[in-house]
Amino acid sequence: MEDAFAGDGGASMVTVDGTSMHVTYSPVDLQSNRWAVLLIQPTEDAFSEAYANQRQAVIVAALVIAVMGITEYILFRAMHRNMQLADKLEAVNEDLKVANRDLDQKAGELQKVDAAKEEFAAMITHELKTPLVPIIGFTELMADGTLGELTPLQKEKVRVMHDSAVSLSNLITDLLDVRKLELSKMKFDLVEVPAREFLERSIDAFRPLADSKKISLSYDVQDGHDGELGVKCDPKRIQQVMNNLISNAIKFVPEKTGMIQVSARKAPSDGAVEFAVRDNGIGIPKEKQNEIFKKFYQVDTTLRRQSGGTGLGLAISKGIVEAHGGRMWFESTPGAGTTFYFSIPSGPTMGNGRGEKN
Ligand code: ATP
Ligand code: MG
Repeated sequence: MEDAFAGDGGASMVTVDGTSMHVTYSPVDLQSNRWAVLLIQPTEDAFSEAYANQRQAVIVAALVIAVMGITEYILFRAMHRNMQLADKLEAVNEDLKVANRDLDQKAGELQKVDAAKEEFAAMITHELKTPLVPIIGFTELMADGTLGELTPLQKEKVRVMHDSAVSLSNLITDLLDVRKLELSKMKFDLVEVPAREFLERSIDAFRPLADSKKISLSYDVQDGHDGELGVKCDPKRIQQVMNNLISNAIKFVPEKTGMIQVSARKAPSDGAVEFAVRDNGIGIPKEKQNEIFKKFYQVDTTLRRQSGGTGLGLAISKGIVEAHGGRMWFESTPGAGTTFYFSIPSGPTMGNGRGEKN
């Protein structure tokens, strides 16, 4: 108790009747007497606020720990789920890889089958042509009597055999050409040649047939002032185009009054060489005009027996012209006639340079 009068004051704990009391004291000098003010209260009351704060702090800490725990749990669950998801994705990925490998393998097998089919088709068509060579050759010799005299009936039948073999050989050649064009495997040897040469060669080839049907067949080449009209192309292939157009015209003009005019000129617009085969034949019906360049298309299939052919000529011709960078088109008036045109650019870029030799 003496402490309460000394110093600047303070606080201490005492036990009164077994209860812990908290004493806060401070000396007071009053009228030359020293007094002391003491505040005695049970320790519990004195620290009740501190205890309350402490409890609050404990509760808050517990809450924080609980929230952290829950958050961690949620995060853990989420991570776990993500890991499971990742595992599933990995498994799906693996399945996809396997499926992809299977697809690649199947695609490879299909390509091999395609290549084998192509090879087979090429081989068959070639092999079909080979036996026709002696058939055509010997029937020719038999029909003209070189291998001994035949009766008129025998000659006639041998001639039929010969012509059938030639038709079959032509068909196989056409099928090979279609295949080459479709696969861009037709090879073209470009040379600069006079347009007149083509026309004359084709006209000469068809003159006997035209004469036998009394069909007029004429040609006209518009050479320039600076020289002959020349065209850079594969002469054999362009000749093939010209021959098909003239052969078509002969098939579809009337005998005796039929007229076919073949011409070549430099197109004023772009300097390309433009060929035309004009006839006064049956013409092509309007509704069939879109079909005419399709493979195997013939307007009137009943005519096939009379005029022959398989409907490949125009498809091949158009393919050859387009491979030269040119184009083919026609104008036709049913009952009055048809003109087929094709143009070869002055400096053609070939559609393909690679491929088999024709
Ligand atoms: P191939 O040429 O294979 O021997 P094709 O002559 O019948 O047979 P394309 O030359 O392709 O075949 O002609 C297809 C069809 O177009 C002919 O069958 C015919 O119906 C029609 N056609 C072609 N040219 C003429 C033409 N000048 N006048 C009337 N129709 C034509
Ligand atoms: Mg034809």
